[in-house]
Amino acid sequence: MELYNLKHPSQVVSFTQAVKLGLGKDRGLFFPKVIPELQDVDSLLALPFVERSKKVIGAWLASELGQDTVDRLVERAFNFELPLVKADTNLYSLELFHGPTLAFKDFGARFMAQCLNELAKSEKINILTATSGDTGAAVADAFYGLDNINVVVLYPKGKISVLQEKMFTTLGDNIHTVAVESDFDACQSLVKQSFEDLDIRDGLHLNSANSINISRLLAQICYYFEAVAQFKQHNEGEPVIAVPSGNFGNLTAGLFAKAMGLPVKRFVAATNSNDTVPRYLDSGDWQPEVTVATMSNAMDVAEPSNWPRVEAIVEAMDWSLADIIGLGVSEADTAESVKALNSAGYLSEPHAAIAALALKQTMSADEKGIFLATAHPAKFNEVVEDILNIDLALPEPLAQVVPKKILSAELPADFGLLKQHLFKVLAD
Ligand SMILES: *Cc1c(COP(=O)(O)O)cnc(C)c1O
Repeated sequence: MELYNLKHPSQVVSFTQAVKLGLGKDRGLFFPKVIPELQDVDSLLALPFVERSKKVIGAWLASELGQDTVDRLVERAFNFELPLVKADTNLYSLELFHGPTLAFKDFGARFMAQCLNELAKSEKINILTATSGDTGAAVADAFYGLDNINVVVLYPKGKISVLQEKMFTTLGDNIHTVAVESDFDACQSLVKQSFEDLDIRDGLHLNSANSINISRLLAQICYYFEAVAQFKQHNEGEPVIAVPSGNFGNLTAGLFAKAMGLPVKRFVAATNSNDTVPRYLDSGDWQPEVTVATMSNAMDVAEPSNWPRVEAIVEAMDWSLADIIGLGVSEADTAESVKALNSAGYLSEPHAAIAALALKQTMSADEKGIFLATAHPAKFNEVVEDILNIDLALPEPLAQVVPKKILSAELPADFGLLKQHLFKVLAD
């Protein structure tokens, strides 16, 4: 698979290089030179998830890695369920939260971990990433126990829930966590400084494992095929799919699936009040505002990093941006949507509820829709309990971590101290 840098098209790399590098020159995103088209999609849809995913990912990677390797990576990464559940009239929920950390980020993080593990072989790989909650847990869990890979996760001390914190700071082994005495922006800026530091770059070979890594997107394409496969067992026609969006990696993967031949009527890009994209789709003006904090905090992104890829797919396929419907949902409407779904018998959380509402507001009466449920309701238990006035039980993966001890180091937001710490835990 060949990819080029969207900012510098003359920079062309293999999948292996793109996974290791993350970003290209000038922080440009890597984009595939060719989007493979699948033959006989109907027969593919009849296959079980893991078998189908081997073919979907194989269409991109078999020529570079060999189909046997692709099969092994897929089998190791995708080892949990993803049911399509009827949620309301004409509405289905694709539940992507049955993985080890109860968020859809498990798909991308687990596949990326398997790819790096395969590519690392004898090389040592060090991953440095910052998290405000979800990503850290998915990344830490996905890389836990893999040979030759060390992970350092920075997070803002006291700014995430104890439950969230325990999901990734209690593992130990090759997972090193650092509670930084500051906010998330400070953590991100420490990560950035580390990548720019020559001693660290030459001495520690860092990789960022963040959401722009192309391996994550390939993994996410697979669940769109599963959504349509399960939808077809109950319905005629093509579904409208609504994606609760932050950095827009999820929507990018959906558009890749459609470009590969998956029958999807259209996509709805649903955001919270951080609605740069819906406003852009309406007006043609790209006007990011200051990020605001919402209940759906995994989508609190004002400048979505994957957006250039969305535009590149639309251009490559000769589609129109006007075919993507954008909708920003307010906090009050998010809460109303959680309530409405609950009245229909479906327990959700703010991210999924935003996507569900976006379908209700934009579908015609003869259409049917699928919204992506990106997190388990219990991961946002405080908000959900508050909106619905109920008590939620903790599911097993969350309950398990409660008695465990937090193993994090604590540091002030000081680059010199972080640098010392990185060399201490990562150098041989
Ligand atoms: C990350 C995340 C999103 C946003 O996904 P993007 O690919 O960044 O658009 C939505 N919901 C949840 C629960 C998330 O963790």
